[in-house]
Formats: sequence, structure tokens, C-alpha cells
Amino acid sequence: MIERHLVARGVRDEAVLRAMRAVPREAFVAGELAEFAYEDAPLPIEAGQTISQPYIVAEMTVALRLGPESRVLEVGTGSGYAAAVLSRIAREVYTIERHAELAEAATRRLQSLGYDNVHVRHGDGTLGWPEHGPYDGIVVAAGGPDVPQPLLEQLAVGGNLVVPIGATPREQTLVRVTRTDAETYARENLGAVRFVPLIGAQGWPVPEAPRIGREPALPKLVREAAEPIGDIESEDLDALVDRIGDARVVLIGEASHGTSEFYRMRARITRELILRRGFTLVAIEGDWPDVAHIDGWVRHLPMPTVEWSPFTRFPTWMWRNTDVEQFARWLRQHNEGAIPERRVGFHGLDLYSLYTSIAEVLRYLDGIDPAAARVARERYGCLTPWQGDPAAYGRAVVTQGYRACESEVVAMLRDLLERRLDYMRRDGDRFLDALQNARVVANAEQYYRAMYYGSVHSWNLRDQHMFETLQVLLAFGGADAKAVVWAHNSHVGNAAATEMGVRGEFNIGQLARTEYGNAAFNIGFGTDRGTVAAATDWDGPMEVKRVRPSHADSYERLCHDSGVAAFLLPIRAPRRADVRDELMAPRLERAIGVIYRPDTELASHYFQAALPVQFDEYVWFDETRAVTPLVTASSRGVPETYPFGL
Ligand code: SAM
Repeated sequence: MIERHLVARGVRDEAVLRAMRAVPREAFVAGELAEFAYEDAPLPIEAGQTISQPYIVAEMTVALRLGPESRVLEVGTGSGYAAAVLSRIAREVYTIERHAELAEAATRRLQSLGYDNVHVRHGDGTLGWPEHGPYDGIVVAAGGPDVPQPLLEQLAVGGNLVVPIGATPREQTLVRVTRTDAETYARENLGAVRFVPLIGAQGWPVPEAPRIGREPALPKLVREAAEPIGDIESEDLDALVDRIGDARVVLIGEASHGTSEFYRMRARITRELILRRGFTLVAIEGDWPDVAHIDGWVRHLPMPTVEWSPFTRFPTWMWRNTDVEQFARWLRQHNEGAIPERRVGFHGLDLYSLYTSIAEVLRYLDGIDPAAARVARERYGCLTPWQGDPAAYGRAVVTQGYRACESEVVAMLRDLLERRLDYMRRDGDRFLDALQNARVVANAEQYYRAMYYGSVHSWNLRDQHMFETLQVLLAFGGADAKAVVWAHNSHVGNAAATEMGVRGEFNIGQLARTEYGNAAFNIGFGTDRGTVAAATDWDGPMEVKRVRPSHADSYERLCHDSGVAAFLLPIRAPRRADVRDELMAPRLERAIGVIYRPDTELASHYFQAALPVQFDEYVWFDETRAVTPLVTASSRGVPETYPFGL
């Protein structure tokens, strides 16, 4: 954890790194969460609170500038983890927690682990602990509206106070206040963060208890603001198409990779956009060379024979399912009467196809420029030893000093770009395909090396690649090109509105918002319960799993409580003006990817989000069912060229 999440992200303070290596984080979380203890993520603890993300604990501790003789006050003991880390650096640590059950549990835990220079108290930390002040460092692990005055008073001259503050209870800027002399303080901003609220006399007011016996206002508001959906195939979508207006990019999400309703509704909206708004391409979270087979089929292009089978990489059910098949058939038929330039394309944005993309570049060059193909074979040969496991390549470069193949793959991409005019003249579509494969190779090479350093950098590389691919497609299509993007909510919803943004991750939705403003329209999906196609572990078999009813503090529960079985919820242009404001206070949101682990659902599948900033429209299906993967039998009677290679 330390090397991957802290050192790789620039934490250099040796005393802090040593302390974090010494404190066993798994001892501070519930047993069933121990396997996640070394992920760089906040985890739930009792009383609805969280143990902070290790990176944030490290950053805040570094910001305190402590020495071995320092006396520290922490507000927000939580599990006691950060206090234990502080105790390995400073002489005495005083920590206050407002929930009695947490203060008691932390006291017991710290005692049993032998952290005897930590003193825990139950109370309101916004008032400080004056008896033991002044402190050389004060750290507040919850977000308040402003810097609490009593804490400023209890700070020693020369000491530092590190506190998240913000205008709403869930979004803050981390601030460091240094007491420069008895009367003066210097203040610096250290960046955006998201903490649980600081509740107390100098913080936010105690939240109201839920009103029992009366219908809660929010689900009612959702019901009034929602447009019910009856049948997916025949529902009138005029109002939605109007709201989308002249958008050039419409991003349509999904709350799992294995839910049929999400695929079908997404396909239905896409068909409307193609028929009524002239959308020219669909770009999906799938591998470029694999999706190119569907593209060739739907656009009636000649289909080359290749030595590899499309859509055989894990997770196969994600695109190889009956709902996608049905959409591909529709698109092929739609394109049938159109002239080639007006046929709607189907493309893959992802970068997991390192080796098939290499094969495709070679195949293209073999046909068009055999001398260039020979050079390409030699350069790409650098990556061949890891053909079966590209992640092992990244590991070999980072840990064993194996020479990176970066210059070779970049040179290949440059060569293709330099000969663009010559190759384009001969066959524009095929050149675009080869060039994109060369781009995938170059970015995937970088991705597999970055993966070893941790999730934030590699996530960003991947979403940057997907966004750039979208832009290449739009540029190739010219001024009239309009794209529909199909990807998980976590890629299409604006990352700045979720915990991802706090971790430093961005995504296609955020990049599209920055680039296209309101000409980008993003649609999120959600469900309460039902079944989903997912695996238990990476590379594991597909299972049909039962989705647990949604968490009480989630947006999903709010939608469920509205009592409407399926609906569209307009957010950018709401039917009730107050819906945006009322939904703005962050809540939990569920994300199921290709893996679903119901047993650890809260830790592994829920994150904090502000839905109205994340999406322009939200689509709800209270109960959903798993997609049906394609098996050979279901394709009887389908032309042999059908793109899934069946
Ligand atoms: N440092 C903790 C750890 O390592 O587990 C994580 C702290 S958690 C993010 C924030 C904690 O602040 C919660 O346990 C919450 O109950 C507590 N808190 C909020 N307002 C408080 C206040 N006024 N006084 C003391 N604790 C408070």
C-alpha cells in the first residue's frame, strides 16, 4: 500500500511513511473489510462514519509538520487509525470523537495494540481540549463550515492546524492555518477533499432525525419530478429527446455491466437519437479491434478474416449479449438503405487490446506497405514476451528494470501519422482503423506500466484515451458528426461530483463537460434490486447474482421510496425546480462493474456522489434482471459473418 498509494503519488516524508508502514490498518476496520484495508479508499466504520483514505491521512499528517516532541490534537477519532499513525511521529496525541460508541471502541483498540501515548475523549471536538493545549499540531478529520475559533486559540505559536472547510457539509477544501505569532495566522489551501461533516457547536448542526410516520419529502419530490416509463420499446421519449436538444455528445451510462434493462433502454434512446437527431456514431466501452467487427457488419463493409476471435476477453457477457446483438441488427438494417458516408458507425473506446491491436496494425501494413510492416514487426517484437499477460510487462519494467518499449510503440504511431496523407488517399476508413490500433498500442503500453503504480494514474490514462478516441471519431466524421457514448456510470457521470474527483480521478463525462459544455448531455442509470450478470473475481466465470436492495442512505433508496417502478428523472431541466437543490446533498450511490460482491457491498460498491452534478438525467428501474450472454445456439440462422464470431 505504502509504495503503490503513497510513494508513487509523491508522499516523501520519511517519518510519515515509516509510521504508516508500522500501523496495521486492518486492525482498525471490521473483520469482513480487512481485505480492503490496504486499498487507497475510505472504508465504513460504526455509526455511519468512515476511516479516512490512507493517502489523505498521509497528506494531512505531512501538512502538520510534526517532530518527535510535538503534542497533537485530533478532532474525529473515528476508528483511531489516524491517531495511531500520529502517535508514531509525535510525543502525545489527544483525540476527540462525538460518537460515544466510536470513542469507546477506539480506546479499547488503541490500548490493546499498545498505543499508550494516545488519549481519547468523547465530546465535541470543535471546542478543542483546552486542558492539554496549546498544541503543535491540530488536525480535524471532518469537514466544517469554517475554522473553529477555539482550535485557533489552542494552537501553539509556530503550530499548524489542518482542517477541511466548505460551504456544504460534504465538499471541502483542505486548509492549513499556521499561527505565526500570538495574534496572527497564515492560511494556505491544500486542495479539494471530501470528508464526513464536522458536527458541533463550531461546526454543522446535528442532522434532524428521520420523521417517523410521515411520508418523507424527498421520495415524494422524486415522484412528482419523474416521468414514468412503461414499456422500454414503446414508451414515448419525445420529452427526453427535446431535453437533449442539440447536444453533440450524449453519454449514456449503466449502473452495472450486466443488467438487461440498462442495455435495452440505452439502445432505445440511441435509436431515437439516430432517427430523430441525426447522430452519426455510437462509441462504447469496448476494445477498438473487437468492436470494429460489429462496425464492419453494421456498415456493410467487407469483413476481413482475422486470426483472433472478437469479444473473447473477460468479461465476455459485457458486449456479447442478446441486447447488444439486437441493437447491432437494428443498426445494420438502418444502415442498409443509406449511402456509405451516411451509415452510422459503431466503435470501441477502450485500450485493453494491446496484442490484437498490434496484430491489426501489422495486417494493415502487410497489405499497404510491406517495408513498413517489417519495421513494425521488429519494434512491436519488444512486447512479445508478455503476449499472454500484458500486466506482467508493466511489472517487469517497474520492478525488474526490464527495458520499456515506449520509444518503439511511439515511433510506430509517429510513422503512421507522418504517412497519413499517403495512406488516407488509398482507404480512409482502413487507415483510421490502423492508426487507432497504433494509438491503442502506444497508450496501452503506458497504461500497463502505470497500473503498477496505483489506480488513479492508470484510471486517468484509460479515460483520457477513451475521450481522445471519441474526439478522433468526431473529427473524422466532420462538422455534422454526433456521438452517443455507452459506458459505465463511473465513466460517463461527471467524476468531479463523486469520490473519484476527490481521489484525483477524472473520466470521459468530466472531460466532455469541460470540452463541450452543455453540448454534452449525460444520462445515468440506477436500480434497487433484482439480478445481475457478474463475476466474483477478475477472470472468473459469469454468474447470475442477486442484487441486494439498496442501502438506506443511497440515492437508490430514495428512488425506490418514490414508489414509481421505472422513470426518467430530468435533472438539467427538472419538472420541479427544487429537485436539483434537494438532491444536491451527497448520498451513497451504487456501482456494480463486472465484479459484484454482495457480502462487502457497502465497501466495495458504494461511493459518495452529488447526483445533480454528476448527471443531466437519471433513469430508474426499480427491479432489473441479468443480461443473457450469447451462446452459439442463439445465433442459429444468423449470417456467418455476424460480428461476434459465432
Ligand atoms: N481519523 C479517523 C480514522 O482514522 O478512522 C477518521 C475520522 S472520520 C473521517 C471523521 C470522524 O469525525 C467521525 O468519526 C465523526 O463522528 C467525527 N466527528 C464529526 N464531528 C465531530 C466533532 N464535532 N467532534 C468530534 N468528532 C467529530
